[in-house]
Amino acid sequence: MTDPLSTTQALSEKVKAVSPNDVSRDEAERLVVELSDTLSFHADRYYAQDAPIISDAEYDRLFHFLKDLEGQYPELRRGDSPTLRIGTDPISAFEKVEHPERLLSLSNAFDSDALVAWYERCRKGLELGETDILPTTVELKIDGLAVALTYDEGILVRGATRGNGRIGEDVTDNLRTVSSIPLLLRSESEHEIGIPSRVEVRGEVYFRRTAFDRLNAGLAEAGEKTYANPRNTAAGSLRQLDSRITAKRDLSFFAYSIGPINGRAPTSQSEILTWLGSMGFSINEHATRFEDISEVVSFCESWTDQRDSLDYEIDGVVVKVDSISSQDDLGRIANAPRWAVAYKFPAREETTVLVDIVINVGRTGMITPEAVLDPVEIGGVTVSQATLHNADYIRDRDIRIGDRVIVKRAGDVIPQVIGPVEGARTGNEVSWSMPKICPVCETSLERLEGEADYYCVASDCPAQFIRLLEHFASRSAMDIDGMGSKLAVQLAESGLIQTLDALYRLDADRVGTLERFGEKKVANLLAGISGSKNRTLGRLLFAVGIRHVGQTTAELVASSVHSALDLFDMSPELLVEIEGIGEIIAESISEWFSLEHNRTLIENFEQLGVNITRLESESLSFDATSAVSGNTFVVTGTLESMGRKDAQDEIKKRGGKVASRVSGKTDFVVVGENPGSKAAKASELGVQILNEEEFLKLLNG
Ligand code: NAD
Repeated sequence: MTDPLSTTQALSEKVKAVSPNDVSRDEAERLVVELSDTLSFHADRYYAQDAPIISDAEYDRLFHFLKDLEGQYPELRRGDSPTLRIGTDPISAFEKVEHPERLLSLSNAFDSDALVAWYERCRKGLELGETDILPTTVELKIDGLAVALTYDEGILVRGATRGNGRIGEDVTDNLRTVSSIPLLLRSESEHEIGIPSRVEVRGEVYFRRTAFDRLNAGLAEAGEKTYANPRNTAAGSLRQLDSRITAKRDLSFFAYSIGPINGRAPTSQSEILTWLGSMGFSINEHATRFEDISEVVSFCESWTDQRDSLDYEIDGVVVKVDSISSQDDLGRIANAPRWAVAYKFPAREETTVLVDIVINVGRTGMITPEAVLDPVEIGGVTVSQATLHNADYIRDRDIRIGDRVIVKRAGDVIPQVIGPVEGARTGNEVSWSMPKICPVCETSLERLEGEADYYCVASDCPAQFIRLLEHFASRSAMDIDGMGSKLAVQLAESGLIQTLDALYRLDADRVGTLERFGEKKVANLLAGISGSKNRTLGRLLFAVGIRHVGQTTAELVASSVHSALDLFDMSPELLVEIEGIGEIIAESISEWFSLEHNRTLIENFEQLGVNITRLESESLSFDATSAVSGNTFVVTGTLESMGRKDAQDEIKKRGGKVASRVSGKTDFVVVGENPGSKAAKASELGVQILNEEEFLKLLNG
């Protein structure tokens, strides 16, 4: 093939534009050849080299088009068609292993209709009557690679990859390093099947997200290139010639079926899973047996939305007829069983060209590099921009302008570039580095110690102010009715507003000078602005755009003070006493309130009637303004006005700490009747002693 990528692209466009039914026989003849060659090329990159250069979704589209054409014109199907094969032939570096029974692939269902159609085919194949039930076992489809483990008398003797289904590679040494693969089956198991004299256990080797992130973090720290895709990295890790490398990768394993077994065999898929669990294998906890297909459909749909909650990647759900004798009756087609189907989730990753990298100035001055992409459709949405997070992210992954890149769009999260497809490089790609100055105000960009992000630190940067104003007015912040992003840009660019408080000084005459602002629009905007004056203190603290202060943090801070004015001189040491506030956030809040122009902003808000105090609806959970805050107390003896426990709670509520022993770290010892030795110890160490009256005074400020 001349250039596999451009042939693939041309085929992809064709496949998107026409239906297989509209293809003439002549054209089908040509397409079957091109698709077979192209898919074989990509299967080799995926299975043999663990380095695909197109997305799975693109591969699947081409694959199913070829399958449809072959269905229409069976005489055109080549003997070596990718639709008949499983994986690829094993590579020569490992010894070859002949599987005693073929390891098959799975047929796919891309929506619930196809899933129900598969179920109906099974029912028909088994000649079930209307009232007969057909139970299925439903399992998450782990996105890793299949392996077969042979146990003789309970001892792991061989582990092999699936390879082409008939012949795989012997990777026993590497598999022995995977901690969730038992080297010995559990002899104390009480399962009635016990340990067979020989059994083949099948399952999936995969990367946990946490282990994958750890691997990448280590590589980044060592200045090495990180990996983009857990599945391909797991496959590559398992096929290392040095098993010490595999051992360091921290791979995991889920067992999901068995091959040939000498001895009593389980009679259902659900029994296979319980037996595997009893033998010491990790079994996926979400596997469920259902009697009705509608429950299976709900399971598949709910996992489509929930899949990010797992610590590993899944690309679908596998539905298996539960009874083994029914499985045997149904049999198989060329490369897949009839009794199972893979319900595939909608695609979330595609590959496309990174046309440029631009930088975006955020409301706190944070600089985010953004990818400008050749538009690509992912799960029904056209994506032309994606985040690249920060300069380190680009450097660690060696992402270059002109690269073919993997783009991921998951749920509501902003699309992101996952990494480059190195195998698709032409040599014309250009490395990128962070510009030295802000593209809008030209101030030098700064990177704070210990942070990955660069910032434009100019307080008067117009780009920052536009973002800040948009954020200030947004629904989760001050929720100003009638003021969306466009209007924020218009107000800032017109020069009418240069500080946030100026919003509350706007009047009808001035707003009326804006383009396309009729009387009604002016009145609506002013009403919206005025209506935002009574927002909670939490919203205000979030709205003013303090670095690292999100909605929840702002609420935590608001529930610990009486007014924004209390924050003017609050030290980071005191702020970290608020539960949920870490050092970096505390520093950031303290720094923000130490700046004169920010203090003026808060004072101006107050003068203009914008609420800056904690509202009754915002409960006081911790009083950072109290003299008790940050100090350590020991309470001893009997107090008249409250029990000792109540006294301790009152101290904690105000941000104080309670200790049981007096030491050099104690700030106050509260002494009631019959105090015992603690009072004496306090005098000895020179710790301040409070009697009950003094203590109550301190509590009440
Ligand atoms: P498959 O991944 O569609 O399904 C079969 C596999 O599912 C099994 O071999 C097993 O490894 C796995 N599996 C996970 N959980 C399972 C469970 N609980 N029970 C049973 N099996 C389970 O089939 P395949 O032939 O391994 O791979 C085909 C896929 O590979 C395609 O969908 C395609 O997206 C991808 N592919 C991509 C490229 C590319 O260039 N991007 C090339 C070739 C193949």
